[in-house]
Amino acid sequence: MADDRARRVRELIQPLLVKPGSKVDLSKDFDPRYKAGFLRKQDGQELLQTGISLLADYQRRLAAQSTYGILVCLQALDAGGKDSTIRHVMSGINPQGVQVSNFKVPSAEELDHNYLWRYTCRLPARGEIGIFNRSHYEEVLVVRVHPENLDRQQLPESARRGDIWQRRFREINDWERHLFDNGFKIVKLFLNLSKEQQRIRFLKRIDVPDRNWKFSAADVRERKWWDDYQKAFSDMLSETSTEWAPWYVVPADRKWFARICAAAVLAHTLIEIDPQYPTVSKQRLEELRAVRAELEREAPAGAESDPYASGRHQKNRQVNKKSKK
Ligand code: AMP
Ligand code: MG
Repeated sequence: MADDRARRVRELIQPLLVKPGSKVDLSKDFDPRYKAGFLRKQDGQELLQTGISLLADYQRRLAAQSTYGILVCLQALDAGGKDSTIRHVMSGINPQGVQVSNFKVPSAEELDHNYLWRYTCRLPARGEIGIFNRSHYEEVLVVRVHPENLDRQQLPESARRGDIWQRRFREINDWERHLFDNGFKIVKLFLNLSKEQQRIRFLKRIDVPDRNWKFSAADVRERKWWDDYQKAFSDMLSETSTEWAPWYVVPADRKWFARICAAAVLAHTLIEIDPQYPTVSKQRLEELRAVRAELEREAPAGAESDPYASGRHQKNRQVNKKSKK
């Protein structure tokens, strides 16, 4: 059963994977409207709910084990659905184990440091899932498409010589490798939206009063650089999809399908880690039993000495057996 679930998750996400070393041309290689053929929206709802409860279960174990951490990087153009993907996919997860970080135009303090500094400050701890809503990849996306951002980074002349983007790709790959080698898995999701679907979503933000707050004229102006972004995304996917931190291109024109895919990629990572609840030593178990005996002796007259051991509260629980006297 568990193996079957893992296989289905693998099959679903396999077409979204950017094979490390492959050269991506976004306009040809990934269709924003892809929906894996066999799925209808109604099926999707059920599947997403299954995925969400699976994530919740694994996340509890991840937190209890406290050995691995997960960093989820979400990239997309405006209206790609980053916020709503986070809201839906993480809806079943204990908020204590998750930290969402939004990255906007860097502050003066951030610009006073190296370009990876602000992302390092927000990395998850062991046992946690950290979500980057936009991420260090902005450093090879918006900064590349609008070079005036680079001018603001106060780099020395030597750091601007040569192919700065190739160097950043290498530095990012090395940084992620370091995290991976030390127990932090990186899930990289690019929500791939079509230009037409972006136009429709912007119109919705204008037409539906509850969405007005999301509308930004600057986002619409940014459409002028659509082709430059597509090229920058294609390069990013080609150069930074690695064995240790591969990219997944999530078709984003249908939000319901994007959510399923995002949940599936995260589930895949958790299944691979397969975190386990820590078990206690024999000696500790003996200690627990001694304390139990003491608590049992304190039971008031007429009360069960240990309702858990008697089975009344035993549903879905394993109870440490009584030791033989
Ligand atoms: P939003 O996510 O819509 O609130 O917008 C955040 C804005 O911050 C976007 O326009 C991004 O392009 C911009 N942004 C994020 N990271 C950087 C960065 N490193 N350099 C410059 N702009 C950035
Ligand atoms: Mg925006």
